[in-house]
Amino acid sequence: MPDLIYLDHAATTRLRPEVRAAMAPFLDDLYANPSSVYRVAQTVRSKLDVARDAVARALGASPSEIIFTSGATESNNAAIKGVALAGQRRHLVTTAIEHHSVLHPMEELAARWGFDLTVVAVGADGRVAPAAIESALRPDTALVSVMWANNEIGTLQPIEEIGEILRARRIPFHVDAVQAVNYLPINLATAPIDLLSLSAHKIYGPKGSGLLYIRRGTSFFPLLTGGGQERNRRAGTENVAGIMGFAEALGLCSSDRPVAAARARRLRDRLLEELQSRIRDLRVNGSLHDRLPNNLNVTIPGCHSESLLVALDLAGVVASSGSACTSGSLDPSHVLLALGLSESEARSSLRLTLGRENTETEMVRAAETIAGAASRLRRLAPV
Ligand code: PMP
Repeated sequence: MPDLIYLDHAATTRLRPEVRAAMAPFLDDLYANPSSVYRVAQTVRSKLDVARDAVARALGASPSEIIFTSGATESNNAAIKGVALAGQRRHLVTTAIEHHSVLHPMEELAARWGFDLTVVAVGADGRVAPAAIESALRPDTALVSVMWANNEIGTLQPIEEIGEILRARRIPFHVDAVQAVNYLPINLATAPIDLLSLSAHKIYGPKGSGLLYIRRGTSFFPLLTGGGQERNRRAGTENVAGIMGFAEALGLCSSDRPVAAARARRLRDRLLEELQSRIRDLRVNGSLHDRLPNNLNVTIPGCHSESLLVALDLAGVVASSGSACTSGSLDPSHVLLALGLSESEARSSLRLTLGRENTETEMVRAAETIAGAASRLRRLAPV
């Protein structure tokens, strides 16, 4: 996307050249099905094993605890339905700001399968209190799912504290870490987490590739059955090139993390400063302190986000008003409403998410463009 200032890295990221190179042989000569018996297929199988080992090592897990999926939507569905349907307990707990790929499977289990669902509220800062999760628990709680970092406002949840509470009660804990992994180290050897979802395309890897970590000993009912791949937990011929790309992307992400986080924070803080100096009544949504370093979500009162996004796009700045999966929907963001924003405030909000290609100059240009577009819109349609 030449000449565009891309500020939508929470929606997806550009494939890194190293990732493309790691995938290429498996889109070309090494196309054999890794389950076949001949030698070239066994070569593919052994490369797949190496990738699984690398991914497991990067996460502090064991290779047998990793299952490769088609992305985090599948991982979240598999974790939630897979644990809920594996046992007898009938109560589920999650938070009001989860991604729809967590909320919707939970709601389906409640509507169609007779589960009780408790959706825990968050504070105005976009964080859930561990005590609020604790007081939602019941003797028959089957699973708790809390995201590590929110995709719209970037707020970080107290995963360790919640995990300790759940571990003491032997309640399985699922964490959607899709947005967190770029900036927070994940060590499943010590973290009190039983299931964890990741997606390759948020970390400069390919779309349609993800994983679900399932701690050894966790009861799990597989969503997909058939050929018995992934130790009978996710049937289907492996997306070999996608897995190779994911493993490469995760390795790069782990080694770049400290530098990437410091850089993103510097750019994000500059962008906020530039915006605040031009738009006096701009408000930041969610805690700035407990937040991903690359995320900014702001309300510009009286400035409708849909019109603003169109104006920005025409001026070469691409951003979003919330989750990419729900843009196009006319509903205001459920995350912003959960923070206590009114519908009209939620409809006047902008999500800006930075990534490795962004520069300081872009931050200044983006702020000028946003401020100019916002002031034109406010003049055209004064509230
Ligand atoms: N969870 C979160 C927090 C996300 O941001 C996304 C992507 N928008 C998903 C899950 C779904 O991931 P995928 O696109 O790999 O299905």
